[in-house]
Amino acid sequence: MFAPIISALRLSPIQVMAEKTRQAIQQGHSVIDMTLGEPDFPTPAHIGEAAIQAIHAGQTRYTPINGTSALREAIVAKFRRDNGIDCSPAGISVGCGGKQVIYQAFLATLAAGDEVIMPAPYWASYHDIVAMNGGVFRPIMTTPETGYALRAADLDAAITARTRWLVLNSPSNPSGTAYGRAQLAEFAEVIRRHANQRFFILVDDIYEHILYDGRAFHTLAQVAPDLADRILTVNGVSKAYAMTGWRVGYACGPRPLIEAMTKVQMQINSHTSSVSQAAAVAALNGPQDEVRRRCAVFQRRRDFLLGAFARIDGLQTPKPEGAFYLFPDARAYLGRATPAGQRLADDVALAAYLLDNGVAVVPGSGFGMPGFLRLSYATSDDNLRIAAERMAHALNNLG
Ligand code: PLP
Repeated sequence: MFAPIISALRLSPIQVMAEKTRQAIQQGHSVIDMTLGEPDFPTPAHIGEAAIQAIHAGQTRYTPINGTSALREAIVAKFRRDNGIDCSPAGISVGCGGKQVIYQAFLATLAAGDEVIMPAPYWASYHDIVAMNGGVFRPIMTTPETGYALRAADLDAAITARTRWLVLNSPSNPSGTAYGRAQLAEFAEVIRRHANQRFFILVDDIYEHILYDGRAFHTLAQVAPDLADRILTVNGVSKAYAMTGWRVGYACGPRPLIEAMTKVQMQINSHTSSVSQAAAVAALNGPQDEVRRRCAVFQRRRDFLLGAFARIDGLQTPKPEGAFYLFPDARAYLGRATPAGQRLADDVALAAYLLDNGVAVVPGSGFGMPGFLRLSYATSDDNLRIAAERMAHALNNLG
């Protein structure tokens, strides 16, 4: 009755935990929700105002597939200003979130058996979007000891004749790992060495503006302009401007790839909402100081949680360089017994136990690393304090 892909697809581990959390809260339990990857701030007022004005001005009709010319120009200007990337309005794709842009890139390029390589831990959706489009997802394992950073030698070993895409996501969801200029240059060197393998590189910069400790942001197309005709640089307004619900993501890349992606989008949803597009123009062209202020808040929260987790013996938590997640190694707790006598066989059981103790987190297996946990600290300071206390109490109670 249903296509084979439906049984092959996993439910998003993030959504599974978010749903369990909603149910627990509905049943009257007190739960601090650290599952979702969305800023807890409101969309800045001037952005909402621009949307309201767009409605009053009658900007409520179909737009071009890749957005209004005002939006594409704002995106071109953003890439030039922030990233030193030169692209033309015709080299821009705009979709309902970065997710749609990523989906279309794979749909437009993958044939059965083509491989997509990406460092693990990875954003869970990559795994399933690749599977939905007939590809084979090949994670490249990293370790907490290296801060989950991809090593050039491991990248080199992972590239094969079947490689169709390499995906880099920096700062990373879920690990917060960010690559500087030197590391990106090393990756570029590896890619150049494999001159016979003409794969694309998807560079997911959606967390660009959430980068800590004064680090400067770098992206591959800027560091290796000679590879620009193979790089799709994906970004969006969701995380930087707290606009997850507006659904605007974009990318710049080689014209033939953008044209193929546009052909696909034309038959899916045409374009993202005209009103959201006006809001995205205001976000990209408007003042950026709020973005920096919010980044400082996230950094403070990161530091608070890292300090609290350092006092929990079994958790090893590398220091994230960006994004708003911690990805602790919790393998020391597997096999241990809860006060009720249940043995925690895996990270799913551990996350369920933590939920029973009032903290909702996502098991690392969904991100390609069983035995780890992902926690989003896009929540209030009070919530973080309570969550840290509950986690310490629950984990210290394991037999
Ligand atoms: N890429 C990464 C790594 C993400 O974490 C997300 C959202 O969680 C996205 C892309 C897509 O975000 P959106 O579709 O809201 O632009």
